[in-house]
Amino acid sequence: MQAVFGSPGRYVQGAGALDLLGEHVARLGRDAVLVADSMVMAMIGERVGRLCSAAAVALRSVGFDEGLTPQLVARLVDELGGTAPAVIIAAGGGRSIDAGKALADHYRAPVITVPTVASNDAPTSKNYVLYDEQHRLLAVRHLSYSPVCVIADTALISQAPAQMLLAGIGDAISKSFEAAQCAAALQGRNMFGTRPLLSAQALARECHRVLVADAQGALAVAGSGQPDAAFERVVEATILMSGLGFESGGLSIAHALTRGLSTLREARRAAHGLQVAYGLLVQLELEQRTDGARAEIEALYRQIGLPLSLNGLGLGDATREELEAAAELSLAAPHMKNFSRELSAADIADAMQVVEARALATLR
Ligand SMILES: [Zn+2]
Repeated sequence: MQAVFGSPGRYVQGAGALDLLGEHVARLGRDAVLVADSMVMAMIGERVGRLCSAAAVALRSVGFDEGLTPQLVARLVDELGGTAPAVIIAAGGGRSIDAGKALADHYRAPVITVPTVASNDAPTSKNYVLYDEQHRLLAVRHLSYSPVCVIADTALISQAPAQMLLAGIGDAISKSFEAAQCAAALQGRNMFGTRPLLSAQALARECHRVLVADAQGALAVAGSGQPDAAFERVVEATILMSGLGFESGGLSIAHALTRGLSTLREARRAAHGLQVAYGLLVQLELEQRTDGARAEIEALYRQIGLPLSLNGLGLGDATREELEAAAELSLAAPHMKNFSRELSAADIADAMQVVEARALATLR
């Protein structure tokens, strides 16, 4: 059987990395489209314009303010007209990156991602998520190929609030456990629909090691605009290692649970990475682990402020019925198969209740 490992064509990280943008765009063609929400556009739109013009690249820009729906994609395509640009530049957080990927998909154009926050690993991956007008998940789509280049300028990323990086750490910390489950499951498949690769598992394990060692240090400088060595390592772990780890290594329960959590009253408003962090606690419970992994993860969460219970996602009073409904929705996620045994909604709701009870007990 074949196995596939996918990755961006190039990954560039460091303070001032954005200065190289024109050079990278010019290698792909002479006209580009910058896609960003209005906040990011105000922050870097002019600078991107100058960089492209210095590299003799014609630039058009499209901004937006709403969530990523099929209607928004249609409007942006309408604004841009029929001619496909040589390259799309997707700049910002998850929403802007995904909007850029959606346009790249429409025009069959390569996409360069420029994350301005490290709140998830979307910049390296080929998938993007469309929502309906009520912000319910509508579809997860995939580009034919991964982003051609990722430019992670840590001078920019370190200006973003620590809470953003905390979400990115939550999204990344689960990856080694998810990849391990995917590899252990007979039916385990990565995001390319093939068996996971050892290289992806190795990257996910290194991602975990870096986060345990450096998350606290990186969070201490987040927001300052002054990236230090720990910050650089954590950005690499949350954007690059986490992304490669899940795409070629596979996801499991922690991410499958976000299907249900993103419909649960207050919890639905919590950042994706915080939902994943909670999902990992449930996964570790379902794994019935007897090693020190759970204690290590709980200690890290306590140290840096990741959620130890649903209360940490803003939902302190979930009923058994709500937990079972969320579990039922999560069962529909394809990643559910990437687990060493088949689970029922009751198994998952039981595990969630154990996580809740344990969090309460430690508070007493
Ligand atoms: Zn994720």
